[in-house]
Amino acid sequence: MIRKFKTAVIVALMSVSALPAAAQDLLARQAPIDRKMKAVDSVALSRLIETEQMGSPAADLYDDWNNKYAHRATELPDSFRIDLRGFCMPTTSRVLTSNFGSRWGRQHKGLDIKVYIGDTIRAAFSGKVRMVKYEAAGYGKYVVIRHYNGLETIYGHMSKQLVEEDQEVRAGDPIGLGGNTGRSTGSHLHFETRLCGVALNPTLMFDFVNQDVVSDFYMFRRDTYQSEGRLANSLRGVGAQKVVASADDDNRRATTTTAKSKTRKARYHKVRRGDTLGAIARRFGTSVNALCRLNGISKSSRLMPGQRLRYN
Ligand SMILES: [Zn+2]
Repeated sequence: MIRKFKTAVIVALMSVSALPAAAQDLLARQAPIDRKMKAVDSVALSRLIETEQMGSPAADLYDDWNNKYAHRATELPDSFRIDLRGFCMPTTSRVLTSNFGSRWGRQHKGLDIKVYIGDTIRAAFSGKVRMVKYEAAGYGKYVVIRHYNGLETIYGHMSKQLVEEDQEVRAGDPIGLGGNTGRSTGSHLHFETRLCGVALNPTLMFDFVNQDVVSDFYMFRRDTYQSEGRLANSLRGVGAQKVVASADDDNRRATTTTAKSKTRKARYHKVRRGDTLGAIARRFGTSVNALCRLNGISKSSRLMPGQRLRYN
């Protein structure tokens, strides 16, 4: 398609030079055609690249696009920078009930976060829904999304799925409702982050207690990600937070024990391009009114990228 387009440009330019001198003068006095063409060319090109990315996100990392396998290990890059900007926390819950890693002699490939049946679960990043399936002995009702940043995220045990396979989603779009389906005792969200099919500890990237990403980027390195994951458990995992709920336990008392027992330290969000008060409030589980009160601003205040907003 690009080649065709370029040919068209060349033909157009050739026909210009074939015009009588007077007509060429006329054209010369009009907008510079070459520059115009270049602009059109780059717009067409970037649209094409965009379309290709939309067709299959992170196609350079994955061999195929299928609706069959929740995860299949493919060749991992030696290193890969995962862009975490533009994230949305999948849930406003700050309560972790089970860590990533070995648990009862088996590997737990995700993080369990306490949610209640019917709680909104949101897409962590923009991307395309690869799977919407039910697995009675495992994930229950689950959704797999492949993101443009290369990650795949899995959301398990939901009571309802709100998206369809091959559907494009934006970060923060509701994709399902919290539940207790599949191999689960007690409602919770089982959340996985995978790169090329390999499960990475979500706490390397997501800090549920503070409802934020750990940093703007996560630098994946094949030789160190496992030890980093174990370290992340001790820094940000369940043990570190002294959560009282047992793993996968429908423990109603678990409700934000962590949040309440912590001292009320002021937390800030750095405004990004496109942020709105509503979106920020939703992300941090607060309200627009509360944000306005905390920051001495009004609902119609203009947010500037880089501005710091207190949210608790
Ligand atoms: Zn789990």
